[in-house]
Amino acid sequence: MIIIKGFPLYKISGITLWPFVLIKSKKVSKVLLNHERIHLRQQLELLILPFYIWYLTEWLYWLVIKKSWWAAYDNISFEKEAYFHESDFDYLQKRKLWGFLKFIGKS
Ligand SMILES: [Zn+2]
Repeated sequence: MIIIKGFPLYKISGITLWPFVLIKSKKVSKVLLNHERIHLRQQLELLILPFYIWYLTEWLYWLVIKKSWWAAYDNISFEKEAYFHESDFDYLQKRKLWGFLKFIGKS
C-alpha cells in the first residue's frame, strides 16, 4: 500500500487504485484508511483488473436503476462492504474471501 496524501480529488475524499491509496486531505483519518484498505483487499482478491470491470458494471447497473451517480455509487457492493465495516479496525483479520458478495443486489 502506497499512500499519497494531498492528492487533488474532486468530490471524493479518497480512492484506491492498487497499490496506491490517493487521499485528498493531508491528514488521513483511521476510518478512511480502513475503508481504503478494504478496497485494496477486494482488488487483490479479484486480481485487480476484474475488480474495476465488476465495479464499473455494478455502478452502471445501479445508475440505470437509481438515475443518480451518487446513489449508484452507494449501491456498489464493494462500497457497501467498505462503508459498513470501515469503523471495525479488525475487520480485515476476520473477513472471509469475497466478503463483498453479501452486499450484492441489496439496495
Ligand atoms: Zn470506497
